[in-house]
Amino acid sequence: MAILDEILEHNRTFVQQRAYEPLRTDRFPSKRMVILTCMDTRLVELLPQAMGVRNGDVKLIKNAGAIVSHPFGSVMRSILVAVYELGAREIAVVGHHGCGMAGLNCQGVLEKMRHRGVSDQVLTTLENAGINLHTWLAGFDRVEDGVRQSVAMISRHPLLPRDVCVHGLVMNPETGLLDLLIRGDAPPANS
Ligand SMILES: [Zn+2]
Repeated sequence: MAILDEILEHNRTFVQQRAYEPLRTDRFPSKRMVILTCMDTRLVELLPQAMGVRNGDVKLIKNAGAIVSHPFGSVMRSILVAVYELGAREIAVVGHHGCGMAGLNCQGVLEKMRHRGVSDQVLTTLENAGINLHTWLAGFDRVEDGVRQSVAMISRHPLLPRDVCVHGLVMNPETGLLDLLIRGDAPPANS
């Protein structure tokens, strides 16, 4: 059975049994926080539980490596919407040990693309159009570097209000233990 069919079958039962009722909430994050983290499968349930976060508590943004790769890309836009439209006041970038984006082998990814039918011509056309695939597909050497870069990109963003603080953390993907790398400046108490 395709995974999609399994999901659709589960979904019908889920709704019929009103299993959604304990999860009901609204779109405003009650903890007023945005978490940017990695799409790693080990974190799907571990991260919210290890951080004490439940449905309705935070805005959760995920991608490969918790990387903000462009100051005007979709991650930064999501953060700004969460801050201005949804009342988020703190941002936590949470990387993790053993991340697949640490030391990602760009050459290897390109090789797999070729293997799956992407022609050299397509790759050359993209390079000629100014898209540097080697930079775009790059990860980071150490997860701490990735978190620091993302925190710097967010906290120095010209459109981020100064009273929003940006933290950097690294999670152990086995135990959920968090190491605090960067504690963002606390906003004034009366704000
Ligand atoms: Zn990861």
